[in-house]
Amino acid sequence: MIIKPRIYKRAVLQTMFFIATAVALPAFAQQKSEDPLLKIYRGSAEKINDLIHTKLDVKFDYKKRYLYGKEWVTIKPHIYATDSLRLDAKGMDIKTVAVVRNGRNIPLKYTYDNLSLAIKLDKVYQSTENYTIYIDYTAKPDELKLEAGAAITDAKGLYFINPDSTEKGKPVQIWTQGELESSSAWFPTIDRTNQKTTDEISMTVPAKYVTLSNGRLASQKKNADGTRTDTWKMELPHSPYLFMMAVGDFKIYRDKWRDKEVSYYLEPAYAPYAKEIFSFTPEVMEFYSKILGVDYPWNKYAQIVVRDYVSGAMENTTATLHGAYVQGTARELADRYYDKGRSTIVHELFHQWFGDYVTAESWSNLTVNESFADFSETLWAEHKYGQDTGDEHNNEALETYLEDPANATKDLVRFHYHAAQDMFDDVSYKKGGRILNMLRNYLTPTVFF
Ligand SMILES: [Zn+2]
Repeated sequence: MIIKPRIYKRAVLQTMFFIATAVALPAFAQQKSEDPLLKIYRGSAEKINDLIHTKLDVKFDYKKRYLYGKEWVTIKPHIYATDSLRLDAKGMDIKTVAVVRNGRNIPLKYTYDNLSLAIKLDKVYQSTENYTIYIDYTAKPDELKLEAGAAITDAKGLYFINPDSTEKGKPVQIWTQGELESSSAWFPTIDRTNQKTTDEISMTVPAKYVTLSNGRLASQKKNADGTRTDTWKMELPHSPYLFMMAVGDFKIYRDKWRDKEVSYYLEPAYAPYAKEIFSFTPEVMEFYSKILGVDYPWNKYAQIVVRDYVSGAMENTTATLHGAYVQGTARELADRYYDKGRSTIVHELFHQWFGDYVTAESWSNLTVNESFADFSETLWAEHKYGQDTGDEHNNEALETYLEDPANATKDLVRFHYHAAQDMFDDVSYKKGGRILNMLRNYLTPTVFF
């Protein structure tokens, strides 16, 4: 993920505040160490059950901002036999929970506290036995509230943009944002980075719209009521936070890397510039495949640009989602060199290896995702624009890290933090990226890679 630039600005303001109040530092530090949330050891999530396959059939209610979902999730006990299953499911109406046996749904007992679904299975399952749970549910992301009553608007997982067409000239879109643990706001799952599952998502949408999800578009079916059902299949396992859906009026520009499809989804107004914005993508895929010694591992690579995105960009497996910052007209793009837009495109692409193919087992280990993606920006700068541009990018990142003295107090891998999103900081990104760059120089590139 790349965090929105305005968050960095806020960080700078916090730094200024920090410097201004440096005299009061001992009291501030003491207060911080008393934060009870900092006392919690944030290890990897316990594995009781493993996700195997997730099949979803969803349709959208634009008026109510609801998702009507049917899910068939295949699971097995991780190692110990168990007769229970807990799924994360945020702010949903749960209508049916059943186990599928010989094609029939056998209802199961469950309790639901608006955040997680505790299911009593029909028997004790061994770790060698897969079973499939069927869930009929409604996701209501706009009504999602924490128990304390605070709306977690930045973590609602599923976003309806201008759903009533009340804002003139603004497109109607639906898109999702799974990281950190918000996919469970639109489908029940074990919403942890140390889970991986294959998936299949069928989306029924107004026929005039285009859809995008992970993996390949397996089928499209026109329905009598003016809708169309698109089914996307993801045949290699990935973590739930990397699931994605997007629906709207997008023009698709198709490109290619070796024999794989590379595509760019843009609003019609920006479609003429698709080539200028994104067409260096296959060249970067080739460079990263060679330098890593592992070819791009997925079956396609799509990039989509959406409205009102809540962060900078997100590396959903095979389907990166960008905020509108990446767009530009021919005139604007002519002035671009190795700017924020281009470094983000290569950053999200590198995540397809570090983040998506290999995944941090917990947020404490976020360095596996973000330090490597940050470092990849320097690699590409150096390869494409030369040593000076690589060094400049490296130095800018170092300076950003040094700007905030609080950064020096944090370990790269941290098992104590206030909230998981605190891990998405200049230590996980900038410091980690610089450490990798140092290691490359220290070991020599041959040994490092
Ligand atoms: Zn990232």
